[in-house]
Amino acid sequence: MKEETKPMERPTREPLALRLAPRCLAKTRAGTPCQKAAATGKKRCRLHGGAEGSGAPPGERNGAYRHGLYTREAIAERKAMRSLMQCFRQDARDALSELDATSGTRPSRVRS
Ligand SMILES: [Zn+2]
Repeated sequence: MKEETKPMERPTREPLALRLAPRCLAKTRAGTPCQKAAATGKKRCRLHGGAEGSGAPPGERNGAYRHGLYTREAIAERKAMRSLMQCFRQDARDALSELDATSGTRPSRVRS
């Protein structure tokens, strides 16, 4: 079994940028992670699906595309809206607790 190596201590002559690149975690025939540098912007090395032009096209051109609910853009939009709503809720909670602290009365609880 290969010992886990830290990128800076790898005994190779790779340039520093390559040494610091995220590693490919594809499983090799030996059952260990591949450990080659992942291709730019990808999670796998060029031999394990990270090569340029490999993989299915994104969006409507992808064969598994149905309605766009799970596209990266849609997921990112929902995530942004969720965090915005969390901010609003926290602000409302803070305002209510401030009301509690000052007057002791507060409007009847609104269902969320
Ligand atoms: Zn690999």
